[in-house]
Formats: sequence, structure tokens, C-alpha cells
Amino acid sequence: MSCIFCKIAAGEIPSAKLYEDEEIVIFKDIEPKAKIHLLCVPKDHFATLAELNDERSALLGRTFAKIARLRDGLGLTGGYRLIVNQGEDAGQTVHHLHIHILGGEPLPW
Ligand code: AMP
Ligand code: ZN
Repeated sequence: MSCIFCKIAAGEIPSAKLYEDEEIVIFKDIEPKAKIHLLCVPKDHFATLAELNDERSALLGRTFAKIARLRDGLGLTGGYRLIVNQGEDAGQTVHHLHIHILGGEPLPW
């Protein structure tokens, strides 16, 4: 598997991990676009929301709930923004679905 996020999830490539469980990992983005910029990556490899099925939809539901629960521990008490880039026009560069988590300061739109 040549996918960089699969390798990070498997611990084969180092990352600044803040949270991990059996189905997701959260680590710092190497090119932060805000004071706090994290990536939440499901361990299941799929590229876009077009590949959702019932199982993956449930996984994403649990993932959003976990992000909300982890908010304070991640330093996001003041609020945060989630971004899921889909495809070329959105600038998606890693083709393994991931949720950008931005915060730690007031964010310009
Ligand atoms: P996207 O443009 O939505 O595909 O986002 C991919 C993100 O992954 C970018 O914000 C990159 O800075 C980030 N990224 C790429 N490689 C790594 C890495 N090895 N560790 C942490 N973040 C990475
Ligand atoms: Zn992958």
C-alpha cells in the first residue's frame, strides 16, 4: 500500500499523533493553515465520500462524535472548523479520506 495516510495510521511513517483508537487516528498537519491544524484519518482506506457505504457512514458518524468529545483535549475549546476536501477543484492531494480540524484562534472565512 503506497498511501501515505495508511502508512501514518499503521505507524510506518512518523507523525505527531494526538489520538488513536481502533478506527481513527488524529495527528498534526505538517503544513498548518491555522494555529491548530489536525488531520483526522479513518484507518479504513477510501478516497472520497462517493465511496461511502452503510459501514463507512456509521464510521464517519462515530468519528464526528469523537472529534466533538475530544474538543477540549485537542485545544479547541473556543470552537473549530472541519473541512473534507473532495477531488481536484477542492485541492485534495491525499486520496485517503481525511477531515481537517482547524482552530486554536478565530478563523477568517
Ligand atoms: P488535502 O489537500 O485535503 O488532500 O490535505 C492533505 C493534507 O495532508 C495537507 O494539508 C498536507 O499538509 C497534509 N500532509 C501531507 N503529508 C503529511 C504528513 N506526512 N504528515 C502530516 N500531514 C501531511
Ligand atoms: Zn490510505
